Amino acid sequence: MFSEACNLGIKRARAICGICSEDVIVMYEVKLSGSYYDIGLRIGNLFKRDKELLPKFSEENIVKGMEYEKEVRKYAPELLEEVQGIADGSGVDYRIVATHELSPYRLQPSCLAMAISGDCTRTGLPVLAENEEWIEEDSKYLTLCYTKPGGKLYSLGFTFYWAGMSRYGGVNEAGLAICGVSTSFVNSGPGVMFNVAERWILDNCRTVEEAAEFIEKIPNEWGIAYLLIDKKGSIAKVEAHREKTKTTYTDKGFEFVSLRFDSPEMERYNAWDQQVFDRYSARKSFLSKWFRQNKGNIDDQAIMNVLKDHENEMCTHDYPVNMPICWSWILSPGSDEAAVCAGPPCKNEFRRSRVAQRLEPARANFK
Ligand SMILES: [Zn+2]
Repeated sequence: MFSEACNLGIKRARAICGICSEDVIVMYEVKLSGSYYDIGLRIGNLFKRDKELLPKFSEENIVKGMEYEKEVRKYAPELLEEVQGIADGSGVDYRIVATHELSPYRLQPSCLAMAISGDCTRTGLPVLAENEEWIEEDSKYLTLCYTKPGGKLYSLGFTFYWAGMSRYGGVNEAGLAICGVSTSFVNSGPGVMFNVAERWILDNCRTVEEAAEFIEKIPNEWGIAYLLIDKKGSIAKVEAHREKTKTTYTDKGFEFVSLRFDSPEMERYNAWDQQVFDRYSARKSFLSKWFRQNKGNIDDQAIMNVLKDHENEMCTHDYPVNMPICWSWILSPGSDEAAVCAGPPCKNEFRRSRVAQRLEPARANFK
């Protein structure tokens, strides 16, 4: 059970709820609106008490990080106003905040996501669902961001504590949902990272086509397979790499991405790894069959069951080293309800959240 007492009283971490004595993971929630700089300033003010959570970067890391910052300045410049606000509010050097949010420091193919069009679900609504594979320890930093930058689109997106500007998946008021999975690190280099691209898309794009156009335009830092769905039911897989980006629209009502590029023309950008290939194959064949058998009857409970499946390697604990499912979520563009699970879905409950939240100007309230 998730009680308000443990949500309000404990800043972060897995904790024992004082009321029910159950072991629960506390999620952060943050409501943000106003100019990008004001949003950043508010976040920075909250982060300054936890400076020790930031990784320690060498001067070499920072120099490399600023090369990524240059690319963001070209393609999503307003987001840097928010990074500046975070730096000013927290008292941490801008170059450190920028390096942390804009450049990579952990490289491993990970995550799985699926998109299902409304004519294949029981509710008639489209669905985007993701299992995020990451450090399990970081599940305690899951933050739900309700964000409305001035003049831009409102969204619910997901990030970690101390990655205040980034989004790792989300849905916006226009009914566009997005996420991305990492696939390949062959020939990586400075570009616009997927956590930055996803935030920009949530703030600015209304349709799958607009979002795909943005991803095709930016320099991509490594291999990411983005999955997009909008309330019209359009689904696109955008396989993005530094050297080539390919968008595939599907009319089958279902698409899936995990661990590697799977379009024939993108195959050459995958690094060969037997374990990655086996896991990708197990997931793909299981999900394809599951979709065929359940098409038209799929609801959130069915998706939750799939996300926690061990037999077909959907929920994993042994690969990559210390990277199980860190959190899971289910979004339905056009619906006001999201289902979010902090920590592996086999051990934790999904919690319902309202997507539309009442926002006050220039306020950031961590609960
Ligand atoms: Zn599990």
